[in-house]
Amino acid sequence: MSFSSEPSIQALHDAVRTVQDFPKPGIAFKDVSPILLDPVLFRQAIEALAAPFREAGVTKVAGIESRGFLFGLSLAEELDAGFALIRKEGKLPWRTYRMEYDLEYGTDCIEMHRDAVVAGDRVLIHDDVIATGGTAAAAEQMIREAGGEPVGFSFLAELNFLSGRDRLGADVAVEAALRFDG
Ligand code: AMP
Repeated sequence: MSFSSEPSIQALHDAVRTVQDFPKPGIAFKDVSPILLDPVLFRQAIEALAAPFREAGVTKVAGIESRGFLFGLSLAEELDAGFALIRKEGKLPWRTYRMEYDLEYGTDCIEMHRDAVVAGDRVLIHDDVIATGGTAAAAEQMIREAGGEPVGFSFLAELNFLSGRDRLGADVAVEAALRFDG
């Protein structure tokens, strides 16, 4: 028996579109945009993301540019938390924390406003997809530098074969609503 209010993980899984060789050859891109087109699926996604963290005392959800904004803002509202923007370098207008991190070739950089996370904040870090985990690990470091306490990572989709969660703080909960093996 199923209940209409129960998140249908299979329906969400089926809605994620895999686009081969985007943005470059060899990458199987997980496109979550079909979920945004369907208000029932979107609601189910937010419920699935929020469920593990309802009792975690989250004060801020930190969403990673840009697809981490799509679900992250609604997740924050669902958890009665504020929403902190983590953006790529040069996009935020005011004073920032910044964190560089290594890519396969070269480096990348994320930033967050100085007032986005403050001492005492319990922060849930969110992105749509965790791949290698490098971006989320950099976000975790930046939040610690700001004085916040990372209490969890919340991803809509995890790419199992890249083992990205191994790069994240061992003492911080890592939750993914959907898992993909390819
Ligand atoms: P990561 O390798 O975990 O640092 O991922 C870097 C960023 O690119 C994250 O914001 C992911 O959401 C995104 N990303 C990486 N690989 C994929 C993929 N195969 N499909 C969709 N998004 C991806």
